[in-house]
Amino acid sequence: MDANDVLALGLGVTPPWKLVGQRLDTTMQPNQLHLEVADARGGLFPCPACGKLCKAHDFAEFTWRHLNFFQHHCYVTAKVPRTDCREHGVLRINVPWAREGSRFTLLFEQVAIMLVREMPVLAAARIIGITDQRLWRIIEHYVTKAVESIDLTRVKAIGLDETAAKRGQTYVTVFIDLDRKQKPVVFVTPGRGKDTVARFKAFLAEHGGAPSRIVEVVCDMSGAFIAAVGETFENAAITVDWFHVVQMFTKAVDDVRRAEAKHSKLPKTLRWAILKRADGRLTNAQADALAELEASDLFTAIAWRIKEKLRWVRKAESVQAARWRITHFLRHAGQLLADDPILEPVRKALTSFEKHLERILQRWSSSHSNARLEGLNGLFQAARARARGYRNTTTFATMIYLIAAPLEDLFQST
Ligand SMILES: [Zn+2]
Repeated sequence: MDANDVLALGLGVTPPWKLVGQRLDTTMQPNQLHLEVADARGGLFPCPACGKLCKAHDFAEFTWRHLNFFQHHCYVTAKVPRTDCREHGVLRINVPWAREGSRFTLLFEQVAIMLVREMPVLAAARIIGITDQRLWRIIEHYVTKAVESIDLTRVKAIGLDETAAKRGQTYVTVFIDLDRKQKPVVFVTPGRGKDTVARFKAFLAEHGGAPSRIVEVVCDMSGAFIAAVGETFENAAITVDWFHVVQMFTKAVDDVRRAEAKHSKLPKTLRWAILKRADGRLTNAQADALAELEASDLFTAIAWRIKEKLRWVRKAESVQAARWRITHFLRHAGQLLADDPILEPVRKALTSFEKHLERILQRWSSSHSNARLEGLNGLFQAARARARGYRNTTTFATMIYLIAAPLEDLFQST
């Protein structure tokens, strides 16, 4: 085996192709290793349409970026023929070391995908020495291909949630299969609300699923989602997940706090203490702020007490117990609420809660875990971090798929 054979092996060059030359260009920084590949003279090539071996019609030279050879950037150059098939005419053939239309070798792309499964795209782009935009194009190609073969024939319960690709704008809606413990994401689409549900229905049908087989949908309280889900999945029970109930009341408390802070002195660090998850860890200062709040007669304290009572509701162990606790909760909240307009956000949250009561109660009779949507928050954060620097709805959605969708054969589907 000579040096050319060793290099050819690493490239995936197979007969009639042969590595015929190598040259290190030291005038460039970093240095460039150029590998020249050529066909055996007079060889026959398969027509890209039918595979029939044909003579070459003509040749044109192409260059592909290959994996770095130690510290040197590496390029492969070859004269690629067009075949002249009697049936299909003159067509450019596909080379075995690169996919059609790509200016990178397959090995380069495989390493690139391996890296972005482990680290932010920007960091991976720096390691392999290309721009993140070019790396995103590679990722999008493979992910889009793999998403095409997601199998939804067994899907019967879904959860959906929306999140912003960037703060306060450009939303995506994510659908998960509630029966899939690992890699639950089955569909990601730009936008929010009604249209996204229609797009999921079409996607479901294209991937072997059936809207009539969906028996449960877990989502938040947004009217647009609930109406669309009801129309689209006629056999589905709609469950409002608890996470969004707590989130709604947390926001109400914060709205009251903000309004009250304009004319009253509130404990310091109260804002973050309120926004923290109910069972999250508080700093000493935050715990002090909450203790001060509880002992006070501030409106924010009233809102906070009502929200905190939700924990007691959630611990109910049956639908009956939950219904009883909710009745008690609503009455108690009504008594605590003063007439002051400053508490309007809490009144609104309570109205919404009552309106969706049956869908909220559904969580106690559902056979699916309701913590699934809450778990999506961690995924969204991870995807945002991985897509940093070049984040829009497309790159964000691609990254969510890459991290959390069941894409097994990223490279078999080229
Ligand atoms: Zn042909």
